[in-house]
Amino acid sequence: MVTSNHHKKYRKHRRYRAPRKRGPRYICPVCEKPINVVSTAIIHKETSKKAHFDCIIKELKKSYQLKPNEGICYLGGGGFGIIETSKGDRNKGFVIKKRIQYETR
Ligand SMILES: [Zn+2]
Repeated sequence: MVTSNHHKKYRKHRRYRAPRKRGPRYICPVCEKPINVVSTAIIHKETSKKAHFDCIIKELKKSYQLKPNEGICYLGGGGFGIIETSKGDRNKGFVIKKRIQYETR
């Protein structure tokens, strides 16, 4: 039996492969800029693509026509809430007026 170990030395050089671009780049469908931090991205409802968290907030604000004392906060689990900040009572902070289930998981 002849060992063929020495053949390994003469292996042809592997063709140089261009390094792959890392992962798919997500482009925000709202502002059309790349999303750098994907973990905070929210799935955009209309396009079902990942979008910036801030862009989703902006869209929600537009579509719900918030009053000056209202805002939107993230409640977790793909849900947002329309919050109303109370003027006088500082300890109270805000109340959640409406829940918006945005992402379905
Ligand atoms: Zn965006």
